[in-house]
Parts: sequence; structure tokens; C-alpha cells
Amino acid sequence: MKTSVLVTGGAGYIGSHTLVEFLAAGYHPIVLDNFCNSSPGVLRRVEALTGRSVTWREGDVRDASVLDALFSLAREQGAPVECVVHFAGLKAVGESVAKPLDYYDNNVYGSIVLLQAMERAQVRRIVFSSSATVYGEPRSLPYTEDHPLAPTNPYGRTKAMVEAMLADWCAADPGRTAVNLRYFNPIGAHASGQIGESPRGTPNNLFPYITQVAIGKREKLLVFGNDYPTPDGTGVRDYLHVSDLADGHVKAVEYARRARPGCFAFNLGTGRGTSVLELVKAFESTTGRTVPYEILGRRPGDVAQMWADPSAANELLGWRASRSIEDMCRDGWRWQSQNPDGYV
Ligand code: NAD
Ligand code: UDP
Repeated sequence: MKTSVLVTGGAGYIGSHTLVEFLAAGYHPIVLDNFCNSSPGVLRRVEALTGRSVTWREGDVRDASVLDALFSLAREQGAPVECVVHFAGLKAVGESVAKPLDYYDNNVYGSIVLLQAMERAQVRRIVFSSSATVYGEPRSLPYTEDHPLAPTNPYGRTKAMVEAMLADWCAADPGRTAVNLRYFNPIGAHASGQIGESPRGTPNNLFPYITQVAIGKREKLLVFGNDYPTPDGTGVRDYLHVSDLADGHVKAVEYARRARPGCFAFNLGTGRGTSVLELVKAFESTTGRTVPYEILGRRPGDVAQMWADPSAANELLGWRASRSIEDMCRDGWRWQSQNPDGYV
């Protein structure tokens, strides 16, 4: 019998890449997405790429009735949902400062409605999209999962709150499992060039900004600070290929199905830091494109450097990021150059 997983936010950047990995691993993903930051066209691309059809519904994770209907549908199809993979949410740090209630409503209240529906449907496993941002200012590096959680913005606080809620939810029933995946910085695109990141408006993040400069949509990259205590003065992050991150979700669902119940957290990163200018150089040498840039002052709220200790995920999930920075640049550029305007 096929194993169904409910994938909230499955049409988004990470969700769509994860669908490809679930389909390759023989799972039956069922997608719920309200398309507030994506479009159904993404799912058509996933279908074309995998040669498989994707079951999906347009709806909001805060809508209990649509969740109940999807859990029932899976039962009627003879493959009840075994695990929920919860991507749906808002993710822009700056916007979360300006509109905090939107973030608490979507990310925290949305997770409550989802867990209530899971209880009604007797689904007891969830894999949650958390973030390295839950750690806040690093007290020591690399971050290990026992680093204190001290997020510095509303977005990060919504992730820490959901993690706390999941711990309480698991403590209330010894049969429940929650796997919090703390992502570092996913970049790049599927190696086919068929799916990738398609930000609306000006990208907030470094990598899509670089690819948009390279394709001529933006004049130059603005580098936020070159006076950090890092080797070249620019900010250091742990970039990982989005397809490696996607594979981490398959490993996490497998772990949730086999491990003793409980609430777990795993860093998903490579364990290596790369500076802004190192990423620019790697992109230029991999793609042959020039990325002009200008150094500006620091972006408020940025930490100087952060990278993961991924050893818990390596050992317990059996997961390891295998793709290089060059792979990330090459695949991200393939997606951008073949789809200059994203999914439009
Ligand atoms: P994304 O915006 O591309 O994907 C999120 C998807 O969820 C979108 O398709 C959106 O339409 C959908 N969605 C949002 N609110 C919804 C709701 N209420 N009901 C139904 N669907 C809804 O973002 P992403 O980069 O793929 O991120 C996925 C998850 O991973 C998010 O929870 C994000 O906070 C988290 N995360 C992302 C990063 C990153 O760098 N991209 C890093 C750490 C954590
Ligand atoms: N950054 C930059 N210019 C940009 C976007 C980001 O110099 O247009 C820098 C940012 O200051 C940080 C790094 O690139 O040092 C990664 O930023 P991003 O927003 O991609 O990830 P996050 O800060 O959320 O880890």
C-alpha cells in the first residue's frame, strides 16, 4: 500500500522540490496550498518532471474543513495520511516586523488548526519547517540543536513558538512524533531547470538577487556590510542545495515512522560557511557571468556568521548534504536562465 503524506505549502520553493523527492521515493503526496506565494503551474511542472500526477487542493491551512476533507480523501483512497509535512507559512523577516499579526496568524494559528485536524483524523506524525533563525545571535558556532533559542524577529518567534507547541503536543500523547527541521540557507534549483525559486518583487535573499543581476533584471548586487569579523568582512551563511534539503524531508518522514515517538530537532545544513563575496565568486566562475556589486552598510538584524553542526541529522536521519556550492550555482543559474520570469 502506498504511504500518503499531506504536504502543506507543497507548491512553494522547498515544497515543490520535496514533492519530486517524495514521488521518487514512492510516496503519495497530497498538497494543500493557498497559492499566496506560488501558483498551480508549479505542480504541473512537478508532474511533467516526474511523470506522475500530483493530488492537490487549493485551500488555506487555517481552514479546518479543507483539512478534514483531505484526510478523509486519503482514507477513502485506501492510503490514510501517515505523516504531515508542514511548509505552509509566511517567511519574510522584514515583513514580519511590519506585520507581526499576519505572521502569528498564518504560522502559529495555522499550525494549531492543522494539529487539531490531525487529532480528529488520528494522524500522529508531523515534520515541521523550522529555521536556523530560531537560534538568534550565536553564543557559539557551529550551532548545535541544544543552542538556546532566542529569535530576534517575529518570524523567528513564530517558528520557536510552533516548536514549543509541538513539544507540548507530543508530551500530551506518548504516540505522537514531531520532527522540527531547522533549515540553514537553501539555494539553487532542481538540476533539470524545470522548478526553482520564483520570488515575487525584489528578492529579500542573496542568491535570487545574484541570479537576477546575472540575467540583467537588476543592475548590481547590494552587499550588506564588509566590516564583519569574517575572513573577507562580508556575512557568512551555511548554503545548502534545495534538492539536498528536499531529500532531508524524505529522511525525516522515514525517521518519524521508525523512531520511538517524541519531539526532535535537526539542523539541516552542510556544516560549512560561505561569505557573500565567496558566493559571488563561485557563481561567476561556475556560470561565466559577471555580477557587479556595491558595498553598502550592514542590514539591520543580520548576524555576522552562522553555520550548522549537521551531525545529528547525519547520524540519526542518515542524511547528508552532498551537493557543492558550484552545483548550487550551476543549477540555480540553469533555472534562472531558462525561466527568466520565473513561473509566469
Ligand atoms: P514559499 O513561500 O515558497 O512556500 C510556502 C508555500 O506555502 C507557498 O506555496 C504558499 O503559497 C503556501 N502558503 C502560505 N501560507 C499558506 C496557508 N495559510 N495555507 C496554505 N498554503 C499557504 O517558502 P519556502 O521557501 O518554500 O519555505 C517553506 C517553509 O520553510 C516555510 O515555512 C518557511 O518559513 C520555511 N523556511 C524557509 C527557508 C528558506 O530560506 N526558504 C529557511 C528556513 C525555513
Ligand atoms: N545579503 C546581501 N545582499 C542582499 C541580500 C543578502 O549582502 O541583497 C547578505 C546578508 O546580509 C547575509 C547573506 O547575504 O549576510 C545572506 O542573506 P539572506 O537574506 O539570503 O539569508 P539570511 O540572512 O536570512 O540568512
